[in-house]
Amino acid sequence: MKILIADAFHESLPARLEKFGAVTTDPARLAEAEVVLIRSKTKATREYIDSAPMLKMIIRGGVGLDNVDQAHAKEKGIQVFNTPAASSVAVAELAMALMLAIPSRVIEGHMSMKEGKWLKKELKRTELYQKTLGLIGVGRIGTEVAIRAKAFGMQVIAFDKFVAASPHAKLVSLDELLAQADYISLHTPLTDETRGMVNAALIARMKKGVILINTGRGKVIHEPDLAAALAGGQVRAYGTDVWESDPPPPTSPLLGAPNVFMAPHIGASSTENLLRIGDVIVEILERHYGKK
Ligand code: NAD
Repeated sequence: MKILIADAFHESLPARLEKFGAVTTDPARLAEAEVVLIRSKTKATREYIDSAPMLKMIIRGGVGLDNVDQAHAKEKGIQVFNTPAASSVAVAELAMALMLAIPSRVIEGHMSMKEGKWLKKELKRTELYQKTLGLIGVGRIGTEVAIRAKAFGMQVIAFDKFVAASPHAKLVSLDELLAQADYISLHTPLTDETRGMVNAALIARMKKGVILINTGRGKVIHEPDLAAALAGGQVRAYGTDVWESDPPPPTSPLLGAPNVFMAPHIGASSTENLLRIGDVIVEILERHYGKK
């Protein structure tokens, strides 16, 4: 069997997969591949799938399958898998890191000291303690964020279209969440319904000065509307790992905004998570091709 590792996984993965067959990381060998392993960078579009006539299986190391043309894969008899449970802690920790760094002024403190400035008086901090966190989407990652936010003394409320109760968050309507939350953290998948969901109309229903955290998907936010809300003060700050496109174009209105705190889509990229993803990939291959 020929396996193409198309994106960045843990460095131990090629050796772990050799028992199943020939492993390559050369994308030019797509045409020979029977199994392709991708993360976010590779888009398994119709054209990509059509360039791989031997392909039998696509495994996406990660949660969302929005970068795979699942309908076309199905038509061609190609099985598609993901590793949905592996990444929850890694992404939740990054959401918490952004949520802590913004009110604690960590990034401005660091950057200004690098520039030789001492902004002890200027960098006023606020606390997470006793603030209300609103989670939009309380599945695997949202739940891990809820558990961590409660440890910081936050009140955690959540809106989820398909979840009615959670041991870790009080489920409320979207209107209640928008009216009450000091912080809003996004944890829905990208679907036809969530695409562009956070637009000017929705932002206007949030508390003035809300801090928005996005480790879900960039396209859930209408970036120009958010940029306007950040400039006008309706949103105090935006902490994000995800973008309308990876990487955002230099013209993105968010890149230059002083109250945007950014990560380059590294939510799932912890060493521990990449090892867990490797474990799940080995399990999937063993299930289909037998233990070697
Ligand atoms: P999950 O399926 O466990 O949870 C998603 C939740 O969103 C579910 O409870 C679902 O009911 C809810 N939901 C769906 N549509 C909704 C809507 N219209 N309104 C409100 N709630 C809605 O998934 P998860 O493992 O928690 O992952 C969530 C998302 O995080 C993924 O789909 C992916 O887009 C993103 N993600 C990002 C990274 C990263 O690197 N930053 C890594 C992994 C996952």
